[in-house]
Amino acid sequence: MNIKANNIIPVVQLTENEEQVKQALQICNACRYCETFCAVFPAMTKRLEFTQADIHYMANLCHNCGACLHACQYAPPHEFGVNIPQVMAQVRLETYQKFAVPASFGSIYKKTGISLVSAMSVLFFLIMLGGVLLNGTNLLGLYQGDFYAIFRHNFLAVLFGSVFILVFVLLGLGIAKFWKRISKIIPEGVEQPDILQASKNVLTLKYLDGGHGKGCNEEDDRYTQIRRVFHHFTMYGFLLCFAATSVATMYHYFLGLQAPYAYSSLPVILGTLGGSGLIIGPIGLLYLNIKRHPLHGDVKQKPMDRGFIFLLLLISVTGLLLLAFRDTSAMALLLIAHLATVMTFFLTIPFGKFAHGFYRSAALLKFAVEERIAKHHSK
Ligand code: SF4
Ligand code: SF4
Repeated sequence: MNIKANNIIPVVQLTENEEQVKQALQICNACRYCETFCAVFPAMTKRLEFTQADIHYMANLCHNCGACLHACQYAPPHEFGVNIPQVMAQVRLETYQKFAVPASFGSIYKKTGISLVSAMSVLFFLIMLGGVLLNGTNLLGLYQGDFYAIFRHNFLAVLFGSVFILVFVLLGLGIAKFWKRISKIIPEGVEQPDILQASKNVLTLKYLDGGHGKGCNEEDDRYTQIRRVFHHFTMYGFLLCFAATSVATMYHYFLGLQAPYAYSSLPVILGTLGGSGLIIGPIGLLYLNIKRHPLHGDVKQKPMDRGFIFLLLLISVTGLLLLAFRDTSAMALLLIAHLATVMTFFLTIPFGKFAHGFYRSAALLKFAVEERIAKHHSK
């Protein structure tokens, strides 16, 4: 099945980076050596030409595993200079900016590095500290782990709940714009098996196995699953922390059980496991990010990558310290520090690296639809 997208979508002027992807894909489409690698190559072989929407779609299908760069006989220093992971990464950053809501905030993606997230965390720390001092609260008092002696539960629930809803609405609107753009070239709609297949690929981080199952390339030609493993620690660590907060909210509102919860309680166990995952995963990813081969990925994305990893580390370290020292006089300051990092994270959700998981999931959903249709047509 060849998808003739140009019949449906008007031709638009490509950016320089998109043009580079198009040229590289045209070489790949003639070569096809990497046909058995990740989802990008089956998607590519279904096309004879590449529109801007195709390029946005395939850039977000690429998991930046590096396998096709290390396998490529046309990679630099060859005169063709084919570097698929790099050109895809450059366009990925453009798509995040292009589909950001509000559009004028798109440029923030390039700025959410370690300096910005640190500055935001310090700013929120100072604001909250000022609020607590103005309230006359003893910062070094002993509160037996009762966080709500520092900030009232309802205040935290309304503040963080409203920011959380707002940023997810903005992120959702951006993903909807992206989906609308790339799904125009799907003649049929999404079906349940597509959602199941895409969910499986997302939850297992399938294409961080290089497509051949052996893993990514990091600093050399060796394959390794280590990046996939650290991604799993990070992703499931985050989901466990989210589950801990959700369970604690249900305890509070539906069971009338007030924090602090015992170390053996479900919210604390989930939070401890999640926080540990969010330390192991980001440390590993930061190490790999620093060590990676210079031809991998896009230098312009590195600040965003490192800023996000650093922020996750700040959240998990302050969260676990808060848990460990909640019965001491350091509790109030640790709580303020943790909340400041969480607020920074929330506000950067639609304009930082966190968004990449959602763009990639949308691309994987489209890929699942295309694969199903291709199988149907080949019968
Ligand atoms: S990345 Fe290189 S080896 Fe792989 S299909 Fe493209 S041109 Fe061929
Ligand atoms: S996921 Fe890996 S193999 Fe696939 S296009 Fe990206 S870098 Fe190449």
